[in-house]
Amino acid sequence: MNTPTITNSAEETRDFGKKLAREIKPGTLLCLQGDLGAGKTTFTQGLLEGLEATRPFVSPTFVIMKQYDLPAVTENGIKRIYHADAYRVGEKDFREISFAEWCADTEGIVILEWPERIANLLPEKRIDITLRTLSEADREITIKNL
Ligand code: ADP
Ligand code: MG
Repeated sequence: MNTPTITNSAEETRDFGKKLAREIKPGTLLCLQGDLGAGKTTFTQGLLEGLEATRPFVSPTFVIMKQYDLPAVTENGIKRIYHADAYRVGEKDFREISFAEWCADTEGIVILEWPERIANLLPEKRIDITLRTLSEADREITIKNL
C-alpha cells in the first residue's frame, strides 16, 4: 500500500488512521514523518480511537511519550500503545527513556512523531508514514511497508 491517500480535512485524516488501526500487528513501530501541522498527531488520534484507547488523547510533544494501556486487547493482540514525539529531544534522551524496550514489546505498538530526530535509533523493521501538507486542508499520506 504505497499509493498516497489524499485527505481533505482533519476528520478524514482521523478516519484514515482509525481504519488503518485494524491492520497493525503487535510489535510494530510506526514512524510518522511530516512538518509541523502536517497532521501526525491528528492521524495518531484516529489510530488511538481505532484501537479503543482510553481518552484523553494528548499530544506527546510536552511529555515525550504517553503510554496507553488498552482496556481490551485488540483482535490483533495489541495490549499497549506508546505514542512518542522526538521533536524537542534527541537520541540521548530516547536511549535513556528506553525507546528500544518499547520497540521490543511484542504486545505493544510504538507510534513515533519526528523519527528523523532519532534516526540512529530506528530499527530496520518499521512502517514509515509520511504526511505532506498540500494546502490548508489537504494532506497527502503515504505508507511504506505495511
Ligand atoms: P502535527 O502533529 O503533524 O504537528 P497536528 O495533527 O497537531 O500536526 O495538526 C494538524 C493541524 O492541521 C490541525 O490543526 C488540523 O485541524 C489541521 N488540518 C487541516 N486539514 C487537515 C487534514 N487534511 N489532515 C490533518 N490535519 C488537518
Ligand atoms: Mg504532533
